[in-house]
Amino acid sequence: MDLIDGYRRFRRGYYQSNKGHFERLATQGQRPRAMIIGCSDARVDPAFTFDTEPGDVFMVRNVANIVPPYMPDGDYHGTSAALEFAVRFLEVPHIVVLGHAQCGGIAALLRQGGSGVATDFIEPWMSIVSTARETALAIAHECGHAPDAPETHRLCEQEGIRASLANLLTFPWIAQRVEAGQLQIHGWYFDIPSGTLSVLGADSRFAAVPAEDDAAPAPPSP
Ligand SMILES: [Zn+2]
Repeated sequence: MDLIDGYRRFRRGYYQSNKGHFERLATQGQRPRAMIIGCSDARVDPAFTFDTEPGDVFMVRNVANIVPPYMPDGDYHGTSAALEFAVRFLEVPHIVVLGHAQCGGIAALLRQGGSGVATDFIEPWMSIVSTARETALAIAHECGHAPDAPETHRLCEQEGIRASLANLLTFPWIAQRVEAGQLQIHGWYFDIPSGTLSVLGADSRFAAVPAEDDAAPAPPSP
């Protein structure tokens, strides 16, 4: 199993060079700078994309980076339990909902019953953001995009982020902290082929974050 080979490289390399960091994490506990709700998709690893260290980010990855609404009904709510721990006990100052291009969960939501494959859990889970599907299909229709066009998928992926951000605010202890200025919530979108991150702005649009090179002053013209 080549994951074990990777573990051995970690032990010889990163761990050896950062032993002190791991010892501090063990004795002082975690104080993550942010919580990220990302997708389980193997191509979108937030620790890799944001170049973070162990201890930096409290992470939840689920199908399609979804935040369910606040429903304290005694059922099994894994994502909500993680939110409660991060917000009420670790008091993270930021929550990021990180969506991405080519999301399989969002593709399933768009197909909705059209794949011919019944799922036990995926369809009910994706129905949490069913409004994202309706909004995306309506916008796509206006813009002349086919329901299965890449543009429609991107619209739905980004609407899914908006729906999850709205659901975050249904948790009373999140809404209170946001109101008090103790917690900020963010919607981000990662495009796999271009490696580009876009951020949802106050104008409700996603805009690409300039890479460092883009921000550097332009060379003098000849
Ligand atoms: Zn995904």
